[in-house]
Amino acid sequence: MTAATFPLEITQTKRSGLQEVDFNNLGFGRIMSDHMFVADYDNGQWQNSRIVPYGDLSLSPATAALHYGQAIFEGMKAYRTQEGDTLLFRALDNWNRLNKSAERMCMPTIPEEIFMGGLTELIRLDSDWIPSAEGCALYIRPFMFATDPFIGVKPSDTFSFIIFTGPVAAYFAKPPRVKIETHFIRSAEGGVGGAKCAGNYAGSLYPAKLAQQEGYDQLIWTDAREHAYIEESGAMNVMFVMDGKLVTPFVSDTTLDGITRKTIVAIAHHWGIPVEERKISVDEIIKAIKEGQLESAFGSGTAAVVSHIEAIGFKGVDYELPAVKKDSFAQKVKDYLGDIYTGKAEDIFGWTLK
Ligand code: PMP
Repeated sequence: MTAATFPLEITQTKRSGLQEVDFNNLGFGRIMSDHMFVADYDNGQWQNSRIVPYGDLSLSPATAALHYGQAIFEGMKAYRTQEGDTLLFRALDNWNRLNKSAERMCMPTIPEEIFMGGLTELIRLDSDWIPSAEGCALYIRPFMFATDPFIGVKPSDTFSFIIFTGPVAAYFAKPPRVKIETHFIRSAEGGVGGAKCAGNYAGSLYPAKLAQQEGYDQLIWTDAREHAYIEESGAMNVMFVMDGKLVTPFVSDTTLDGITRKTIVAIAHHWGIPVEERKISVDEIIKAIKEGQLESAFGSGTAAVVSHIEAIGFKGVDYELPAVKKDSFAQKVKDYLGDIYTGKAEDIFGWTLK
C-alpha cells in the first residue's frame, strides 16, 4: 500500500506503551497500541485527518451518539508473516460494510482513501504491536459516531471516524456451549440487524447474560417471527457440516454479512464441497444431531475465526456435538485460513494486502 494521498498530520507519542505489554498474556480487547487515526465530518465533508497518540476523547454530555446510538463499527485484523511483513485481510470488504452500515444509520460514508490511507498509515506506525505468536493478531477497530452536541432526535450533522488497534490472542479460550434463543430477538426484517451498529450489541447483552447464568457461553439467534430458523450467533455467523455439505443461513437484512463467512464459503466452493446458503430450521439441526448426521457446527467471525461449538442447548436439553476431527472441514478450513492470514499459504484469492 502506498502512503496516504490526502493531508494527514501525524503526531507521534512521546512515550510508547509497547514495553509494558506481556505478549504471552494478551487476552482480547484490553490492550491498545500507541496511536489512533481520527477524521472529523463537518460541513458535509471529511476533514482534519490525523494520527495522534491513543488517548481519551473529550465529548459534550449531549453528544448525539451517547443518547440515540448513531454509532457503527468494524472489526478486522492485521497479521505478521514469518518474513516480518504485515498482512491485512479483506480490508476493503470491511470498508464496504462500514459504508453499508453508515447508510442504514443515516451517517455519511467514508471515502476509500481515508479509510484505507488512515488504516495503512496507522498500522505502519504501530507495526511493532503486531504479535507473531500463533493465533494472535493486531485487532483493528474502525468506528464512527455522531458528535452533534444536541439532544433532539435527528441525524447528526457532525461525526467522528476513528481507528485504533490492539494486539489480541484467541477470542474464546474454549469451544463455546451455545443456547438457541426462543424468546428474545436480535433483529427483525426491516430492522438494523444487517448493520454493524452499536445498539445491536447493547440489545444482545441481557439475553446473553441470562444464557450465561444457565451455563452457556453464547446464544444462537432465531428469526423474530417464529423462532424457528437459525440466524447467527453472538458476534459470529453460524455454519453446519452435514451430509458432506457446508450449510449456513443466507444473509438477509436480519444478519450481518460476515467476511469470515463469505471467505469460508468461497474456500468450500474452491475445494469442491457443496455449499447451501438457505433457511435452516432449528428442528432440522436438532434432528440431524439426534440422528448423528451433524458432523460439526461452528461460528465464523474475525475475532474467533472458526469457533467449534461444543454443545447446543434447546428448550432445556443440551445436545453435545461430536469432537472435532483433524480431517474435518471445520478444522481444515480453520488451519487454512490461519495460513492465508499469516502468509504461510499462497493467497490465490487475492484477499490479503501487504
Ligand atoms: N455477526 C455479527 C453480529 C458480528 O458482530 C460479527 C463480527 N463482525 C459477525 C457476524 C462475523 O463477521 P466477520 O466475519 O466479518 O467478522
